[in-house]
Amino acid sequence: MHLFDTGRGLNEYLKKARDQGRQVGFVPTMGALHQGHLALVKHSAAENDETVVSIFVNPTQFNNQEDLRKYPRNPQKDIDMLEGSGCTAVFLPSEKEIYPKGTRSKVIDLGGLAETMEGAHRPGHFDGVATVVWRFFELVKPDNAYFGEKDYQQLRIITFLAKSKNLPVAIVPHPIERNKDGLALSSRNQLLSTKDQDRALALYRALEWARQNYRKHTPKQVKEHISNSFKKEDLNLEYAEVVDDTNLQHINSWDDAEHARIFLAASVSGVRLIDNLLLF
Ligand code: AMP
Repeated sequence: MHLFDTGRGLNEYLKKARDQGRQVGFVPTMGALHQGHLALVKHSAAENDETVVSIFVNPTQFNNQEDLRKYPRNPQKDIDMLEGSGCTAVFLPSEKEIYPKGTRSKVIDLGGLAETMEGAHRPGHFDGVATVVWRFFELVKPDNAYFGEKDYQQLRIITFLAKSKNLPVAIVPHPIERNKDGLALSSRNQLLSTKDQDRALALYRALEWARQNYRKHTPKQVKEHISNSFKKEDLNLEYAEVVDDTNLQHINSWDDAEHARIFLAASVSGVRLIDNLLLF
């Protein structure tokens, strides 16, 4: 496994690989790696000759400076975890490398996909995500790039970006990796005590409840039910949204969408968690 902190070094390495006809997979991350990330790495390694993993905590996608400050960082542990995972190159760029002209987002048309949920609750978040991912695509030039459904809205936005800008990369989705109890794996989980990890299971329970019971209710009633159950457990629900799986717009009736997905964001002891599930 090779380590690079400049785009130039990485490019020299990848040029040689490409000249030998080797296909390149890419897994962008913000580090604090867990088994969810490693599943993406393995997915890429199974489909490509080279797998590049980037580790970069992107400042422009944080709308809350305290959240950015608290975000877990442990690059050496990450590198140790990637050893033997199928990753062939780790890219750990500086902020200057990614943002040579200053740390700010580009204005990018995201096709209305950023209007709801994370886009509505974290102003500027997806401008930051799209800007950094586009920059990484320019630097790495991957054939395939792997994104988790854990950040489903992000996955859809990056797929839209790649298509609308004709970027020569295939965006490959990966299902949500959960622990044995159902909690979606997340870098932020390591900020939770064991007790809070148990409380955080309320997200998964609510999603499962919705999947099993949505037919008996309207989308609004589903959201109300979840909101009430969070209140009872004294948990801080930021939003519960039911949207059309294609355009990510809110729906008022199940007939409004061919496929619908439910999304939750909640904070547990000040740690912000998200999760989602396809209803039909
Ligand atoms: P992050 O480091 O949180 O930016 O995540 C990097 C990539 O890993 C993103 O594509 C995430 O969607 C994906 N990812 C994070 N957690 C999970 C999970 N539990 N299951 C599947 N993919 C995940």
